[in-house]
Amino acid sequence: MAILLCGAWALDQPEGRAEQQRWLQALHQALPGEDWVLQAPEDPAQAAAIEIAVVANPPPGSLQGLPRLALIQSLWAGVDRLMQDLTLPSGIPLCRMVDPAMNEAMVQTALWATLALHRGFFQCQQQQRTALWRQPPQLRAAEWQVLVLGQGELGGRVARSLAGLGYAVSGWSRRPRTHEGVQGLHGEDGLSRGLAAADTVINLLPLTDETRGFFDARRLGAFKRGASLINLARGAHVDEQALLAALDAGHVGHAVLDVFRHEPLPAPHPFWSHPQVTVLPHTAAQTDPRSAAEVVASNVRALRSGTTLQHRVERSQGY
Ligand code: NDP
Repeated sequence: MAILLCGAWALDQPEGRAEQQRWLQALHQALPGEDWVLQAPEDPAQAAAIEIAVVANPPPGSLQGLPRLALIQSLWAGVDRLMQDLTLPSGIPLCRMVDPAMNEAMVQTALWATLALHRGFFQCQQQQRTALWRQPPQLRAAEWQVLVLGQGELGGRVARSLAGLGYAVSGWSRRPRTHEGVQGLHGEDGLSRGLAAADTVINLLPLTDETRGFFDARRLGAFKRGASLINLARGAHVDEQALLAALDAGHVGHAVLDVFRHEPLPAPHPFWSHPQVTVLPHTAAQTDPRSAAEVVASNVRALRSGTTLQHRVERSQGY
C-alpha cells in the first residue's frame, strides 16, 4: 500500500519543487519505510495501491478514482478550499492539521497585534512618518476588552493567552465553551453583546457556508466605535468594501489583516496604503513540517491500528 502526497505546489517552479521536497523529507523521517506517490496516479494498478492521501489543497479531482483510499489527511488547518472540491470522495475520514508549532505562532501573532492596538503602537508608527511626537493613552490590560471569534484549537489558545496577560477576554463559539479566564459567548445574542463591548475583535473562525462574508456592513456596524479587527482566519470572512467604508467613517479604528479574498493581495488594492490597515502576507501561523509530519504519522498509525483518528472534520459543518 502507498501514501499519496499532493498539494498546490507549482512543480514547474524550483520553489514549488523545494516545498514539496521539504514536506517529503519530514514525512519520510516521521514515517520511515512508507511508499510515497507524488502525483495522482493515472495507472489503475497504482491508483488501487493508494491507502492514504496527505494533501495540501491539491487541484480539484486529484483524489478521484482511488478505490482503497481510507484516509484524507490535510497538511493545512483550514479545509475550506479542500471542501469546495465537489469530487472529494465522501464517506472517507477527512482529518485536518492541528500543529503545535503553528498554534504557538498564531498565539504570537495575536498577542503582537493586540498589544500594538491596545498601546497605540500602530498609531506611533503612523506618527513617525510626519515626525509627530504624541504619546498614546496608556490603558491597563484589564481595561481592554478582547473578543475572540472561534474557540477551537487556535481561538481557544489565543483567548487563554490574552487572559493570562490580564486582558478582559470573551470568546464566541457555535456551541457553549468555557476556557479558564475567558467569558464564553454563543449565539447571535452572545455575538451582539461581545461585539458591542470589544475594543479588539480577533477572527479565528473557520470559513464555512455560515461564516462566509461574516464581517459585512451590519456586523461591522455592531462594533463599538473605534474598535479594531484582527483577521487571522480567511479573507472571505470579510466584505472588503464594507470594511473600507467602516474604516473611512472611523467606525472601525484599525484592521490588522493577514488574509485576503485574493492572495497575494494585488498591488493596487487600497488596503496596502490605507493608514489604518496593517497588512501581513498570510503569515500569522505557518504549518511547520517538522511537527506536522508527526501529526500525520500519528493518524496513519491510528488508521492502521483501528484507534481513533485525531482532528476529524465534521463534513456536514464544514470544519
Ligand atoms: P477549530 O475547528 O479548532 O475551531 C473553530 C472554532 O470556530 C470552534 O470554536 C467553533 O465552534 C467555531 N465556529 C465554527 N463555526 C461557527 C459558527 N457558525 N458560529 C460560531 N462559532 C463557530 O479551528 P482552528 O482554531 O484550528 O482554526 C480556525 C481557522 O483558522 C482555520 O479554519 C483557518 O481558516 C484559520 N487559520 C489561519 C492561519 C493563518 O496563517 N492565517 C493558519 C491556520 C489556520 P465550536 O467550538 O462550537 O465547534
